[in-house]
Amino acid sequence: MEPFLPSVSPEARSPEEKIRKMDRVRLPWYRGSVAVVRGPGFEYELIRRPGQKRINIRISQAGKVTVSAPRELSAVQIASGVAAKRNWVLKHLNRLQANREQHDPLQRLLLRGIPYRVVLKKGRRKRGGVEIEDKVLYVDTLDGSEESSLAVMEKWLIKLAKDEIEKRALEISRITDIGFKRVFFRNQRTRWGSSSGLGNISLNWRIIMIPPAVRDYLIIHELCHQRQLNHSPAYWRLVKHYFPEYRKAEAWLKTNRGIMGLFRE
Ligand SMILES: [Zn+2]
Repeated sequence: MEPFLPSVSPEARSPEEKIRKMDRVRLPWYRGSVAVVRGPGFEYELIRRPGQKRINIRISQAGKVTVSAPRELSAVQIASGVAAKRNWVLKHLNRLQANREQHDPLQRLLLRGIPYRVVLKKGRRKRGGVEIEDKVLYVDTLDGSEESSLAVMEKWLIKLAKDEIEKRALEISRITDIGFKRVFFRNQRTRWGSSSGLGNISLNWRIIMIPPAVRDYLIIHELCHQRQLNHSPAYWRLVKHYFPEYRKAEAWLKTNRGIMGLFRE
């Protein structure tokens, strides 16, 4: 079903006014239908579900707001429920926006902790590709669009991550004498890495972007979980033994969490 776009006139300013306008356009709610609603300062996708207890608001890393609401609620009730969360949503969206400005892969890309200027090229090469010259990353695609450029960059980065980071994990495994079976590269949203009790470690492929020292810390972090599958004091002693400045690395990762939001729809 096509999303239904209610025509809310832009001169409706206050949330109350908007609710009145929305109520007047009488949104056609259907089971399972999705509507795009102009909310108080942001747009959101509305999903109505029978049997749901309360209004849920979700914000994707790409800044898409999705509201799911009980089907029994009226448009006015939903709109005022969303309006009550307005400040929370806007704060979150602003943070995402700031992050996007700091890390816009179409302008600037962090690679092994070093920022490269990004230049998009059109149709120089048949298949598209990435080339580095000095501190400039040339991204070549057939149509030169932002969308294809991001796709080409992502593919290139994932390949680079697989080549380089697996090699580094094996080196560190040799140095620390902590073995592992396999390393998997994942597209995690909220984690840099994880470990399984089965001897495998998973790493977010985006760690190809972070400084090598912090990357090494992450590998050590996951390797140490092969000995201790928890974050106990004994675990941290082990980490500290191999990586004394682990707190600095943790702080870097915390400040730069936004990297995990890059290359998402
Ligand atoms: Zn851990």
